[in-house]
Amino acid sequence: MNGAKIGTIIGAETEMQIDPRAMELCVRCGTCRSVCPVFEVLGWESRNSRGRIMVAKALREGLSPDAEVLDSLNTCTTCGICTAKCPAGANPPAIVQSARRGLVSQGIMTEAQARFRERVNVSGNTFGEFGDRLAWLSNREGLKDKAERVYFVGCLDSYRYPEVAEKTFEILRRFGVTLLPDEICCGSPLIRTGSDAGRYVDKNLRQIEKIGAKTVITGCAGCLSTLKKDYPAEFEVVSVPEFLAEHLSELELERLEMTVTYHDPCHLGRGNGIFDPPREVIRAICDLEEMRANRMDSRCCGGGGGVRAGYLDLSLEIARQRLLDVPPGVDAIVSCCPLCIRNLRDAGSEVEVIDLVDLVAKAIKSESG
Ligand code: SF4
Ligand code: SF4
Repeated sequence: MNGAKIGTIIGAETEMQIDPRAMELCVRCGTCRSVCPVFEVLGWESRNSRGRIMVAKALREGLSPDAEVLDSLNTCTTCGICTAKCPAGANPPAIVQSARRGLVSQGIMTEAQARFRERVNVSGNTFGEFGDRLAWLSNREGLKDKAERVYFVGCLDSYRYPEVAEKTFEILRRFGVTLLPDEICCGSPLIRTGSDAGRYVDKNLRQIEKIGAKTVITGCAGCLSTLKKDYPAEFEVVSVPEFLAEHLSELELERLEMTVTYHDPCHLGRGNGIFDPPREVIRAICDLEEMRANRMDSRCCGGGGGVRAGYLDLSLEIARQRLLDVPPGVDAIVSCCPLCIRNLRDAGSEVEVIDLVDLVAKAIKSESG
Protein backbone atom coordinates (compact mmCIF):
# COMPACT_ATOMS: atom_id res chain seq x y z
CA MET A 1 0.00 0.00 0.00
CA ASN A 2 1.10 3.62 -0.46
CA GLY A 3 3.07 5.13 2.37
CA ALA A 4 3.30 1.99 4.45
CA LYS A 5 6.83 2.68 5.66
CA ILE A 6 7.51 3.50 9.26
CA GLY A 7 9.36 6.54 10.51
CA THR A 8 10.48 5.12 13.85
CA ILE A 9 9.43 2.07 15.77
CA ILE A 10 9.44 2.17 19.53
CA GLY A 11 7.85 -1.24 19.85
CA ALA A 12 6.23 -2.77 22.86
CA GLU A 13 6.77 0.33 24.98
CA THR A 14 4.15 2.14 22.95
CA GLU A 15 2.11 4.21 25.30
CA MET A 16 -1.38 4.61 23.89
CA GLN A 17 -3.55 7.56 24.78
CA ILE A 18 -6.80 5.67 24.48
CA ASP A 19 -9.37 5.28 27.17
CA PRO A 20 -9.58 1.48 27.52
CA ARG A 21 -13.28 1.74 28.41
CA ALA A 22 -13.97 3.17 24.93
CA MET A 23 -12.50 0.00 23.40
CA GLU A 24 -14.37 -2.31 25.77
CA LEU A 25 -17.67 -1.01 24.36
CA CYS A 26 -17.08 -3.02 21.17
CA VAL A 27 -18.80 -6.41 21.41
CA ARG A 28 -17.40 -7.55 18.03
CA CYS A 29 -20.84 -7.94 16.48
CA GLY A 30 -19.50 -6.97 13.05
CA THR A 31 -22.30 -4.55 12.16
CA CYS A 32 -19.66 -2.00 11.18
CA ARG A 33 -18.10 -4.38 8.65
CA SER A 34 -21.14 -4.06 6.44
CA VAL A 35 -20.83 -0.27 6.26
CA CYS A 36 -17.11 0.57 6.44
CA PRO A 37 -16.16 1.95 3.00
CA VAL A 38 -12.58 0.80 3.37
CA PHE A 39 -13.59 -2.76 4.21
CA GLU A 40 -15.91 -2.69 1.21
CA VAL A 41 -12.92 -2.07 -1.06
CA LEU A 42 -10.17 -4.05 0.69
CA GLY A 43 -12.12 -6.78 2.46
CA TRP A 44 -9.66 -7.33 5.32
CA GLU A 45 -10.60 -7.48 8.97
CA SER A 46 -7.77 -5.09 9.90
CA ARG A 47 -9.28 -2.55 7.50
CA ASN A 48 -12.66 -2.22 9.18
CA SER A 49 -13.82 -0.56 12.37
CA ARG A 50 -13.88 -3.70 14.51
CA GLY A 51 -10.45 -4.78 13.31
CA ARG A 52 -9.02 -1.32 13.99
CA ILE A 53 -10.33 -1.42 17.55
CA MET A 54 -8.66 -4.81 17.99
CA VAL A 55 -5.41 -3.37 16.64
CA ALA A 56 -5.62 -0.38 19.00
CA LYS A 57 -6.28 -2.72 21.90
CA ALA A 58 -3.36 -4.94 20.97
CA LEU A 59 -1.10 -1.87 20.81
CA ARG A 60 -2.02 -1.06 24.38
CA GLU A 61 -1.13 -4.57 25.31
CA GLY A 62 2.33 -4.25 23.74
CA LEU A 63 1.93 -5.13 20.05
CA SER A 64 4.77 -3.64 18.04
CA PRO A 65 3.45 -0.97 15.66
CA ASP A 66 4.71 -2.36 12.36
CA ALA A 67 3.71 -1.28 8.85
CA GLU A 68 0.58 -3.45 8.93
CA VAL A 69 -0.59 -1.76 12.14
CA LEU A 70 0.02 1.69 10.68
CA ASP A 71 -1.88 0.83 7.49
CA SER A 72 -4.79 -0.50 9.54
CA LEU A 73 -5.05 2.68 11.58
CA ASN A 74 -4.28 5.13 8.81
CA THR A 75 -6.75 3.81 6.23
CA CYS A 76 -9.75 5.00 8.28
CA THR A 77 -11.38 7.99 6.58
CA THR A 78 -13.08 8.96 9.89
CA CYS A 79 -16.37 8.90 7.98
CA GLY A 80 -18.25 7.93 11.15
CA ILE A 81 -20.82 5.59 9.59
CA CYS A 82 -19.63 2.82 11.91
CA THR A 83 -20.30 5.04 14.92
CA ALA A 84 -23.78 5.81 13.60
CA LYS A 85 -24.57 2.11 13.14
CA CYS A 86 -22.84 0.59 16.17
CA PRO A 87 -25.46 -0.97 18.46
CA ALA A 88 -23.05 -0.87 21.40
CA GLY A 89 -22.28 2.85 21.24
CA ALA A 90 -18.63 2.45 20.25
CA ASN A 91 -16.88 5.27 18.40
CA PRO A 92 -14.22 3.61 16.23
CA PRO A 93 -12.88 6.75 14.48
CA ALA A 94 -12.28 8.40 17.87
CA ILE A 95 -10.29 5.34 18.94
CA VAL A 96 -8.38 5.36 15.65
CA GLN A 97 -7.53 9.04 16.05
CA SER A 98 -6.33 8.52 19.62
CA ALA A 99 -4.18 5.62 18.49
CA ARG A 100 -2.70 7.70 15.67
CA ARG A 101 -2.00 10.51 18.14
CA GLY A 102 -0.34 8.15 20.58
CA LEU A 103 1.93 6.76 17.89
CA VAL A 104 2.77 10.08 16.24
CA SER A 105 3.65 11.60 19.62
CA GLN A 106 6.41 8.99 19.75
CA GLY A 107 7.55 9.62 16.19
CA ILE A 108 5.84 6.50 14.83
CA MET A 109 4.14 7.25 11.54
CA THR A 110 4.09 6.31 7.88
CA GLU A 111 6.33 8.14 5.45
CA ALA A 112 3.22 9.63 3.89
CA GLN A 113 2.08 10.96 7.27
CA ALA A 114 5.51 12.45 7.92
CA ARG A 115 5.64 14.08 4.47
CA PHE A 116 2.14 15.47 4.87
CA ARG A 117 2.94 16.92 8.29
CA GLU A 118 6.13 18.46 7.02
CA ARG A 119 4.30 20.02 4.07
CA VAL A 120 1.69 21.62 6.30
CA ASN A 121 4.27 22.77 8.82
CA VAL A 122 6.54 24.51 6.33
CA SER A 123 3.82 26.25 4.37
CA GLY A 124 0.79 26.57 6.66
CA ASN A 125 -1.44 24.76 4.17
CA THR A 126 -2.10 21.21 2.98
CA PHE A 127 -0.48 21.76 -0.42
CA GLY A 128 2.91 23.16 0.52
CA GLU A 129 2.00 26.33 -1.40
CA PHE A 130 3.91 29.52 -0.71
CA GLY A 131 1.77 31.79 -2.90
CA ASP A 132 -0.66 34.41 -1.60
CA ARG A 133 -3.56 32.64 0.10
CA LEU A 134 -5.84 35.48 -0.95
CA ALA A 135 -4.75 35.51 -4.61
CA TRP A 136 -8.37 34.71 -5.56
CA LEU A 137 -9.61 37.98 -4.08
CA SER A 138 -9.76 40.46 -6.95
CA ASN A 139 -11.50 43.21 -5.00
CA ARG A 140 -9.72 43.91 -1.73
CA GLU A 141 -11.55 47.16 -1.19
CA GLY A 142 -13.76 47.44 1.83
CA LEU A 143 -12.40 44.53 3.86
CA LYS A 144 -13.33 45.27 7.42
CA ASP A 145 -10.97 45.22 10.40
CA LYS A 146 -13.88 44.61 12.73
CA ALA A 147 -16.93 42.48 11.92
CA GLU A 148 -19.47 40.22 13.58
CA ARG A 149 -18.92 37.51 10.98
CA VAL A 150 -15.88 36.18 9.20
CA TYR A 151 -15.49 33.75 6.27
CA PHE A 152 -12.93 30.98 6.90
CA VAL A 153 -11.93 29.89 3.39
CA GLY A 154 -9.84 26.76 4.07
CA CYS A 155 -6.76 25.46 2.19
CA LEU A 156 -8.64 23.71 -0.60
CA ASP A 157 -10.76 26.60 -1.80
CA SER A 158 -7.89 29.06 -1.22
CA TYR A 159 -5.45 27.18 -3.43
CA ARG A 160 -7.35 24.67 -5.58
CA TYR A 161 -10.82 26.13 -6.06
CA PRO A 162 -10.25 29.89 -5.90
CA GLU A 163 -13.33 30.47 -8.06
CA VAL A 164 -15.49 28.86 -5.34
CA ALA A 165 -13.82 31.04 -2.69
CA GLU A 166 -14.53 34.11 -4.81
CA LYS A 167 -18.17 33.20 -5.48
CA THR A 168 -18.71 32.40 -1.81
CA PHE A 169 -17.20 35.65 -0.60
CA GLU A 170 -19.06 37.66 -3.25
CA ILE A 171 -22.27 36.45 -1.62
CA LEU A 172 -21.09 36.68 1.98
CA ARG A 173 -19.65 40.18 1.78
CA ARG A 174 -23.12 41.49 0.91
CA PHE A 175 -23.98 40.54 4.48
CA GLY A 176 -21.02 42.35 6.04
CA VAL A 177 -18.83 39.24 6.33
CA THR A 178 -15.07 39.83 6.25
CA LEU A 179 -11.91 37.68 5.95
CA LEU A 180 -9.07 36.89 8.32
CA PRO A 181 -6.03 38.94 7.21
CA ASP A 182 -3.67 35.99 7.52
CA GLU A 183 -5.71 32.78 7.57
CA ILE A 184 -3.73 29.60 8.00
CA CYS A 185 -4.74 25.91 7.77
CA CYS A 186 -7.44 25.18 10.39
CA GLY A 187 -5.34 22.24 11.60
CA SER A 188 -7.76 19.50 10.50
CA PRO A 189 -5.29 17.50 8.37
CA LEU A 190 -2.83 17.43 11.26
CA ILE A 191 -5.38 16.55 13.91
CA ARG A 192 -6.96 13.76 11.82
CA THR A 193 -3.56 12.21 11.14
CA GLY A 194 -2.42 12.33 14.75
CA SER A 195 -0.26 15.47 14.85
CA ASP A 196 -0.47 18.54 17.02
CA ALA A 197 -2.19 21.59 15.55
CA GLY A 198 -1.95 23.95 18.52
CA ARG A 199 -0.11 26.72 16.74
CA TYR A 200 -2.63 26.71 13.87
CA VAL A 201 -5.53 26.93 16.28
CA ASP A 202 -3.81 29.78 18.17
CA LYS A 203 -2.97 31.81 15.10
CA ASN A 204 -6.47 31.65 13.63
CA LEU A 205 -8.03 32.20 17.02
CA ARG A 206 -6.02 35.37 17.68
CA GLN A 207 -7.22 36.84 14.38
CA ILE A 208 -10.84 35.90 15.01
CA GLU A 209 -10.61 37.59 18.40
CA LYS A 210 -8.96 40.71 16.96
CA ILE A 211 -11.70 41.11 14.38
CA GLY A 212 -14.27 40.60 17.12
CA ALA A 213 -16.18 37.99 15.11
CA LYS A 214 -18.92 36.11 16.89
CA THR A 215 -19.57 33.83 13.93
CA VAL A 216 -17.17 31.97 11.65
CA ILE A 217 -18.62 30.78 8.33
CA THR A 218 -16.92 28.07 6.29
CA GLY A 219 -17.62 26.14 3.11
CA CYS A 220 -15.39 23.17 3.98
CA ALA A 221 -16.79 20.27 6.02
CA GLY A 222 -13.37 19.45 7.46
CA CYS A 223 -12.75 23.05 8.58
CA LEU A 224 -16.28 23.19 10.02
CA SER A 225 -15.79 20.10 12.12
CA THR A 226 -12.39 21.28 13.35
CA LEU A 227 -13.49 24.84 14.13
CA LYS A 228 -16.49 23.44 16.04
CA LYS A 229 -14.83 20.63 17.90
CA ASP A 230 -11.13 21.41 18.20
CA TYR A 231 -11.20 25.19 18.83
CA PRO A 232 -12.35 26.71 22.10
CA ALA A 233 -16.09 27.46 21.98
CA GLU A 234 -15.59 31.23 21.77
CA PHE A 235 -17.58 31.74 18.60
CA GLU A 236 -20.40 30.16 16.63
CA VAL A 237 -19.43 28.09 13.58
CA VAL A 238 -21.83 28.12 10.65
CA SER A 239 -21.54 26.22 7.38
CA VAL A 240 -22.05 28.03 4.08
CA PRO A 241 -25.19 25.96 3.31
CA GLU A 242 -26.70 26.93 6.67
CA PHE A 243 -25.94 30.59 6.00
CA LEU A 244 -27.40 30.41 2.49
CA ALA A 245 -30.53 28.62 3.70
CA GLU A 246 -31.05 31.27 6.38
CA HIS A 247 -30.77 34.07 3.82
CA LEU A 248 -32.60 32.40 0.93
CA SER A 249 -35.23 35.10 0.53
CA GLU A 250 -32.55 37.82 0.35
CA LEU A 251 -30.64 36.04 -2.41
CA GLU A 252 -33.46 36.36 -4.98
CA LEU A 253 -32.62 33.17 -6.80
CA GLU A 254 -34.06 32.23 -10.16
CA ARG A 255 -35.17 28.66 -10.81
CA LEU A 256 -33.01 26.64 -13.13
CA GLU A 257 -34.21 23.86 -15.42
CA MET A 258 -32.05 21.10 -14.07
CA THR A 259 -32.07 18.11 -11.74
CA VAL A 260 -29.20 17.51 -9.38
CA THR A 261 -28.31 15.03 -6.70
CA TYR A 262 -26.64 15.85 -3.40
CA HIS A 263 -23.64 14.17 -1.75
CA ASP A 264 -23.63 14.60 2.06
CA PRO A 265 -20.05 15.25 3.24
CA CYS A 266 -19.49 12.97 6.26
CA HIS A 267 -18.27 15.75 8.55
CA LEU A 268 -21.13 18.05 7.58
CA GLY A 269 -23.96 15.52 7.69
CA ARG A 270 -23.28 12.62 10.03
CA GLY A 271 -20.65 14.59 11.94
CA ASN A 272 -22.61 17.78 12.54
CA GLY A 273 -26.21 16.99 11.63
CA ILE A 274 -26.34 19.46 8.73
CA PHE A 275 -28.62 17.63 6.31
CA ASP A 276 -31.52 19.96 5.55
CA PRO A 277 -29.96 23.38 4.77
CA PRO A 278 -28.14 22.32 1.56
CA ARG A 279 -31.27 20.50 0.38
CA GLU A 280 -33.39 23.56 1.09
CA VAL A 281 -31.07 25.73 -1.01
CA ILE A 282 -31.01 23.22 -3.87
CA ARG A 283 -34.80 22.87 -3.90
CA ALA A 284 -35.13 26.65 -4.11
CA ILE A 285 -33.15 26.50 -7.37
CA CYS A 286 -33.90 23.21 -9.12
CA ASP A 287 -35.10 19.63 -8.70
CA LEU A 288 -33.29 17.34 -6.30
CA GLU A 289 -33.06 13.59 -6.66
CA GLU A 290 -31.47 11.81 -3.72
CA MET A 291 -28.49 9.50 -4.00
CA ARG A 292 -29.17 5.85 -3.19
CA ALA A 293 -27.50 6.23 0.22
CA ASN A 294 -28.08 9.62 1.78
CA ARG A 295 -28.22 11.62 5.01
CA MET A 296 -27.16 9.38 7.96
CA ASP A 297 -26.59 6.48 5.55
CA SER A 298 -24.55 8.52 3.11
CA ARG A 299 -21.37 6.82 1.93
CA CYS A 300 -17.95 8.41 2.24
CA CYS A 301 -16.14 10.03 -0.73
CA GLY A 302 -12.90 8.41 0.50
CA GLY A 303 -10.98 11.66 0.85
CA GLY A 304 -10.93 12.29 4.60
CA GLY A 305 -8.83 11.18 7.56
CA GLY A 306 -5.60 11.56 5.60
CA VAL A 307 -6.58 8.64 3.33
CA ARG A 308 -6.35 10.66 0.12
CA ALA A 309 -2.94 11.96 1.16
CA GLY A 310 -1.62 8.55 2.20
CA TYR A 311 -3.49 5.99 0.12
CA LEU A 312 -4.63 7.66 -3.10
CA ASP A 313 -5.66 4.48 -4.96
CA LEU A 314 -7.84 3.34 -2.07
CA SER A 315 -9.28 6.81 -1.68
CA LEU A 316 -10.30 7.01 -5.34
CA GLU A 317 -11.75 3.50 -5.32
CA ILE A 318 -13.98 4.48 -2.38
CA ALA A 319 -15.07 7.52 -4.41
CA ARG A 320 -15.87 5.27 -7.38
CA GLN A 321 -18.07 3.14 -5.12
CA ARG A 322 -19.82 6.30 -3.96
CA LEU A 323 -20.47 7.34 -7.57
CA LEU A 324 -22.52 4.16 -8.00
CA ASP A 325 -25.12 5.81 -5.72
CA VAL A 326 -25.75 8.64 -8.20
CA PRO A 327 -29.26 8.37 -9.66
CA PRO A 328 -29.43 8.17 -13.48
CA GLY A 329 -30.18 11.23 -15.56
CA VAL A 330 -29.09 13.99 -13.16
CA ASP A 331 -27.29 17.06 -14.50
CA ALA A 332 -24.86 17.48 -11.60
CA ILE A 333 -23.70 16.15 -8.27
CA VAL A 334 -23.77 18.99 -5.74
CA SER A 335 -21.79 18.92 -2.53
CA CYS A 336 -20.61 21.27 0.21
CA CYS A 337 -17.02 20.22 0.78
CA PRO A 338 -14.09 20.83 -1.57
CA LEU A 339 -12.39 17.58 -0.55
CA CYS A 340 -15.47 15.51 -1.47
CA ILE A 341 -15.79 17.41 -4.73
CA ARG A 342 -12.13 16.86 -5.58
CA ASN A 343 -12.22 13.16 -4.83
CA LEU A 344 -15.45 12.50 -6.73
CA ARG A 345 -14.10 14.43 -9.73
CA ASP A 346 -10.75 12.64 -9.64
CA ALA A 347 -12.52 9.28 -9.43
CA GLY A 348 -13.83 10.00 -12.92
CA SER A 349 -17.41 11.04 -12.32
CA GLU A 350 -19.25 11.20 -15.62
CA VAL A 351 -21.62 13.70 -14.10
CA GLU A 352 -20.29 17.17 -13.32
CA VAL A 353 -19.48 17.61 -9.62
CA ILE A 354 -20.07 21.14 -8.32
CA ASP A 355 -20.14 23.09 -5.10
CA LEU A 356 -23.49 24.31 -3.79
CA VAL A 357 -22.10 27.82 -4.22
CA ASP A 358 -21.58 27.18 -7.96
CA LEU A 359 -25.27 26.31 -8.22
CA VAL A 360 -26.33 29.38 -6.24
CA ALA A 361 -24.07 31.64 -8.31
CA LYS A 362 -25.67 30.26 -11.51
CA ALA A 363 -29.11 31.03 -10.15
CA ILE A 364 -28.07 34.56 -9.14
CA LYS A 365 -26.38 35.21 -12.48
CA SER A 366 -29.37 34.00 -14.37
CA GLU A 367 -31.51 36.42 -12.33
CA SER A 368 -29.35 39.43 -13.20
CA GLY A 369 -28.94 38.31 -16.82
S1 SF4 B 1 -20.63 -2.32 15.26
FE1 SF4 B 1 -19.73 -1.55 17.19
S2 SF4 B 1 -19.80 -3.27 18.62
FE2 SF4 B 1 -20.16 -4.13 16.58
S3 SF4 B 1 -18.08 -4.74 15.92
FE3 SF4 B 1 -18.42 -2.67 15.13
S4 SF4 B 1 -17.55 -1.28 16.69
FE4 SF4 B 1 -17.78 -3.34 17.64
S1 SF4 C 1 -14.96 5.82 10.39
FE1 SF4 C 1 -15.53 5.02 8.36
S2 SF4 C 1 -13.61 4.35 7.46
FE2 SF4 C 1 -13.23 4.58 9.67
S3 SF4 C 1 -13.61 2.55 10.54
FE3 SF4 C 1 -15.54 3.68 10.66
S4 SF4 C 1 -16.67 3.13 8.79
FE4 SF4 C 1 -14.50 2.54 8.47
